Amino acid sequence: MPKDRIYSLLESIVGTGNVSNEPYTLECYACDSTTNLPSLPNYVVIATTVEQIQALVRLANKEKIPIVPAVGMSNTGGLTIPVEGGISLDLHKMDKIVEINEDIDYAIVEPGVTIGQLDTELKKRGYWVSLPVGPPGSAGLLPGYILHGYGHLGGKFGINSEQITGAELVLPDGELVRLGGCAISSYWFHRTPIPDLLGLILGWQGTTGIVTKLGINIYPRPGFKDAIGWGVFTSHNEPLPETCARFLIKIARAEVAHDISGHSWGAVQIGKGLKYPLPPKPKEDPELYFAATIYAFTEEELTVKKKILENIVKKGIDSGLPLAYTDVTGRIKVEMPTKYALKYSDHRGGGGLDYIGSITPVINWTQGIKRLNEVFDKYGFTPYIRLSIYRGTLQGMMRALMPYNRGDEKDIEAVRKIARDVVQVILDCGGLIYKAPSFACEEMWKRGDPNFFKLLKEIKQTLDPNRIMNPGRLCL
Ligand SMILES: Cc1cc2nc3c(=O)[nH]c(=O)nc-3n(C[C@H](O)[C@H](O)[C@H](O)COP(=O)(O)OP(=O)(O)OC[C@H]3O[C@@H](n4cnc5c(N)ncnc54)[C@H](O)[C@@H]3O)c2cc1C
Repeated sequence: MPKDRIYSLLESIVGTGNVSNEPYTLECYACDSTTNLPSLPNYVVIATTVEQIQALVRLANKEKIPIVPAVGMSNTGGLTIPVEGGISLDLHKMDKIVEINEDIDYAIVEPGVTIGQLDTELKKRGYWVSLPVGPPGSAGLLPGYILHGYGHLGGKFGINSEQITGAELVLPDGELVRLGGCAISSYWFHRTPIPDLLGLILGWQGTTGIVTKLGINIYPRPGFKDAIGWGVFTSHNEPLPETCARFLIKIARAEVAHDISGHSWGAVQIGKGLKYPLPPKPKEDPELYFAATIYAFTEEELTVKKKILENIVKKGIDSGLPLAYTDVTGRIKVEMPTKYALKYSDHRGGGGLDYIGSITPVINWTQGIKRLNEVFDKYGFTPYIRLSIYRGTLQGMMRALMPYNRGDEKDIEAVRKIARDVVQVILDCGGLIYKAPSFACEEMWKRGDPNFFKLLKEIKQTLDPNRIMNPGRLCL
């Protein structure tokens, strides 16, 4: 492709070889694994320094060209698709772990640091952080944390964004600003007690600037692990009676498990690599499988924690709840980052994976799972539901996953409809859509406080008057 004026300006900032307008390169950034409509960027640019990002943002502002930050593009919400064209800014080469502070227990990472990379480094030092459970180790850590992602230690530490201690941000006008305690102190230890401006990046899907460094809490890594598993033996039409939801709340309130997660029967079969269509569920199998994973620093601690959970399960069974223990030997062996993704993406062949996740009160999972089953049944898809309760609140992630065949128009159309129906189910259950694509934001804002959306727009307008940062996201 011929180099135009903008191409040459971009090249003058990031150097030869770091800009492309070749169609085959642009196509790689035009879509993700979901059914969100593809859209080509005009340029792909790879940045390697903060100064380059500042210069790129200033150029984008002057020329009024959209700029979309991306690392692994694995968010499953279509969030790096450049819906209005412009520059896809690939940050994967900014991959320095800037600091690991073992006196105050935090790490500072650049945007391209992957979950596998940080986990490997922390492991060597006897530390860990909460990592997203499903994606490959090549997914970026920073994008998932600023999206309010969920990790494998959420039962103990909460949502990943709660672990953020500070950030460095290139604002849409190219200015560099620090957010959190690091704005004042040389330590990146916490967001308080000054005004907490980290809210300007969390959940904004890259629409308020480009985060160039992120501080996060790190924690000593315990050496002992165990898990208990239980099945919920109910029916497809009534998968999680309220009594069983209340039982989950008891498990969460015990505050012993590092992770409390559940899977629908179909999800477990897909996890084993079974292809569509699944055989009918054997009568002796549960509708839902749950597991509570526990870690400890000593064997004694592990034994006590396990006993506490076993007692709750035993009481539940003794009181007549439809529960029974299940084997979780396999789960105990699973190491992070996991290697699940390929198995579940290819359930119907063709490798597509769409997703609508949410944060929903556990008590409303009773109606939520039932209705999600109905949606999957209506379109002839395997009910693939994942659930996780996180610390500090009796709500959690209720997610619907849709593996589909990218080569099959009928599959694509059905998944788009499922996604829209799932959004309604979640909102009816009092939930909020996580990593919401624009159509889901539209539904949320429609049902919500109009002044919330007004304020969102005002903040966006103030920070980004030329609307260059990932335009179209969040309906902004
Ligand atoms: C099979 C599968 C399972 C998954 N399981 C989980 C899970 O358990 N928990 C979880 O939380 N996530 C999960 N994810 C989602 C995703 O993999 C993670 O959230 C991951 O951390 C995102 O990283 P990424 O590099 O792919 O981000 P990208 O998709 O590249 O970016 C995500 C968003 O962040 C913005 N962004 C990127 N970099 C910056 C920056 N420097 N500044 C500002 N904005 C930026 C982008 O514009 C986009 O809006 C899963 C994904 C898959 C495919």
